[in-house]
Amino acid sequence: MPATGTMPERVSEAIIMRHREMGESDLVVSFFTPTGGVIKGVAKGARRSKVRFVNCLDHFCLVNLEFNTRGKGDLCFIESGRLIEPYSKMRRDFSAVSVASYAVELAEVLFPVGVVATEMFELLRNVFLLLEEGGDPRRVRILLEARAMALGGYGVDFSRCCRCGRLYAGQGQAVFLKDNGGIACLACEKACTQSPGLSPSSVGAWRRFQTCQGSANEILLIAESEVAELKPAMKLHMDYCVGKKMKSTPFLD
Ligand SMILES: [Zn+2]
Repeated sequence: MPATGTMPERVSEAIIMRHREMGESDLVVSFFTPTGGVIKGVAKGARRSKVRFVNCLDHFCLVNLEFNTRGKGDLCFIESGRLIEPYSKMRRDFSAVSVASYAVELAEVLFPVGVVATEMFELLRNVFLLLEEGGDPRRVRILLEARAMALGGYGVDFSRCCRCGRLYAGQGQAVFLKDNGGIACLACEKACTQSPGLSPSSVGAWRRFQTCQGSANEILLIAESEVAELKPAMKLHMDYCVGKKMKSTPFLD
């Protein structure tokens, strides 16, 4: 991972994660890039400039940013930006925006400043596109959580029962065990609220999402019964692994 102080001037695609006002006319902006992960920078005069930053520093915007490192401390200096995609439809839908905000926060929690995560950038972009195209926010959320957690090192092991070691061949009910980040067979565990049961098709969907690209087809394939089963199990997984660091989950639920 390159130290921010030595990065060369560059132009990169980026997703704006958040911004805050600084002084009279500047903005401090966090953005996610494919090759540098989360980067923070100052956009001097951004609140006045009509030319260098045309409506492109709003959160969620997909942009092309030109920036260099002659900024203050850890902050780079953002020279200019060009809007690629504002996701206007997504912004008008409350549920979609909630999932988008949650996606940004999850990316920040899993990939701190300076950690390169090209696939996470792609996931964010694809999730925003799914929401923009009217994808069901509940399904998009499950896809986001499964894939982001796998990318962040919290993938669930569906290959075998984590109690007896028996291989799981994709047949029969399984029981999700949050403490193990895995599943157990019915001979080893009984399903309950804290260890919910998962049908073979739900296990299959979660497993697929862990390695998915985030395309529209991938969420269309998931059935309502799977959504109903996966949602509480995924919530247990998220709470157990990253719950303490997340702020937007209660708002979503
Ligand atoms: Zn077992």
